[in-house]
Amino acid sequence: MKTTKLLIPTQKEAPNDAQIISHQLMIRAGLISKLASGLYSYLPMGVRVLHKVESIIRQEMNKSGAQEVLMPVAQPAELWQASGRWDKYGAELLRFTDRHQREFCLGPTHEEVITHLAAQYLRSYKQLPMNFYQIQTKFRDEIRPRFGVMRLREFIMKDAYSFHIDQASLQQTYELMHQTYSNIFDRLGLDYRAVLADSGSIGGDASHEFHVLAESGEDTICFSDESDYAANIEKVAFSKQEKTCKSTLTEEKVLTKKKTSIEEVAEFLNVKKSDCVKTLIIKTKSDFKALALRGDHELNEIKVHNLFGDFEFATEDEIKNLDLKKGFIGIKNLDIDLIVDYSAGVLCDFVCGANEWDYHLTSVNWQGIEFVDADLRNAVEGDDSPEGKGKLMIKRGIEVGHIFQLGTKYSSAMKANVIGESGKAVTTTMGCYGIGVTRIIAASIEQNYDSRGIIFPQAIAPFKIVIVPINYNKSTRVKTLADKLYQQFIEADIEVLLDDRKERAGIMFADSELFGIPHRIVISDTHADNGNVEYKARDRADKIEVTFDDALSFIQSKLI
Ligand code: ATP
Ligand code: MG
Repeated sequence: MKTTKLLIPTQKEAPNDAQIISHQLMIRAGLISKLASGLYSYLPMGVRVLHKVESIIRQEMNKSGAQEVLMPVAQPAELWQASGRWDKYGAELLRFTDRHQREFCLGPTHEEVITHLAAQYLRSYKQLPMNFYQIQTKFRDEIRPRFGVMRLREFIMKDAYSFHIDQASLQQTYELMHQTYSNIFDRLGLDYRAVLADSGSIGGDASHEFHVLAESGEDTICFSDESDYAANIEKVAFSKQEKTCKSTLTEEKVLTKKKTSIEEVAEFLNVKKSDCVKTLIIKTKSDFKALALRGDHELNEIKVHNLFGDFEFATEDEIKNLDLKKGFIGIKNLDIDLIVDYSAGVLCDFVCGANEWDYHLTSVNWQGIEFVDADLRNAVEGDDSPEGKGKLMIKRGIEVGHIFQLGTKYSSAMKANVIGESGKAVTTTMGCYGIGVTRIIAASIEQNYDSRGIIFPQAIAPFKIVIVPINYNKSTRVKTLADKLYQQFIEADIEVLLDDRKERAGIMFADSELFGIPHRIVISDTHADNGNVEYKARDRADKIEVTFDDALSFIQSKLI
């Protein structure tokens, strides 16, 4: 393609709402254009990248034996009523009524439609397992669309749904999808981790998320420095610890006037935060409870929810009514249940509130105190990895894929049965597997950029090579050489962009770097004199002179 024939509205400045680098660069490089909150158009360069991503996903899904289908975006309410999600899905589900007053929604996901298809067409266990996928638009009325194509309202997802006669068969396909996803993300050149995840609202038994590691990620993931263990921070489960220390000191009450936070108390008493215990008061459906954690640990609200159901933090008035002193609450003389996090429960000679204004206790021990211990906290960097190998590292992650074992949640609600081997009807067991196609582009850029722009991996770059001729419109020699080389690349089936604009060289160089095209060839009059062209890789600083005649084979040797 020639630059003058493409709409590539590059921009020097990023818009104000672009907080993260991928958003800024996608706008600046003219890949996308904002229509409204969470709605973006893909411009020609963006579409080329999108198609590359889709094609890798499609190839690997086909290789895994999955079948491609395409289901409607508009879905009748009846299907969602049958699955029970019409009322449960909440405001992300965009509902509308057609001219005949029939209710519909725009599909945020396609479990209902595919299960309906399975109920119609799958008859016998002999047809199973089957795995269906599509690459298609989803609509979720996200409360805070942001970060460009990272969190959109309308986005493209590859979603797949598998049907099985039993759990063992599901397990096999689940593992195959896990492998397929790894192949996809490897080919996309992403630095990612597959992490154990919470299965969230979809429900089901096992689930893994695939996260691209990047500072701008919205999720926090933990992984072992010595093994394959990786989990979403919410999912890292700790078990009861052996108590090893022996107390040697005598408890004392000390004046800690106005020092209410763990930071202040630790600093004032010159102790580590990890030698302090903090007590939080929550209100569950039935009663108030005190939760005690090590001073350097954070409460994991999901774990608390799993233990006690819905809860809220007690208000100042409620704390007062319990005769407790906010900022000085301890673990002694409480009239409510005390639940102690495992790692706080093994402390010796620790500091905690004295349940008296302006006082803390030092050298406190658990002897004689009634409590239940439990796993209440989030992981922190350096924790022992729960599976027993290595220490945990913590990084930010962007969720690009998610695989779930759904079990029979949808198939039983929507009667997706087949005749089993014994001749009796069997409810199929399901898996589902999503990849955020559009989000992958942003995630890739988050990992591949520099001060000059995007550095696309070859696999998804909009073009493999850009030819930048200097004075293309003035020098016939340069034009002849550039056109000839351009033709050679086209004949060799190498995606090439020829910058035929009447722009200054500086602008053409800057744009070629902003787009992140992996290879660049510059042709000038000087080159025409000496029979060479100048080559530069986007991800390297050095420039190489290559003879004009070798240019094609030189580039071919660099392509994957
Ligand atoms: P998130 O926690 O980021 O909202 P999710 O758990 O809702 O994601 P899934 O329902 O598992 O996402 O969807 C599969 C994939 O679709 C996700 O892994 C993600 O890559 C992508 N995705 C989900 N929501 C969006 C969105 N609003 N914009 C762009 N991509 C999205
Ligand atoms: Mg979501």
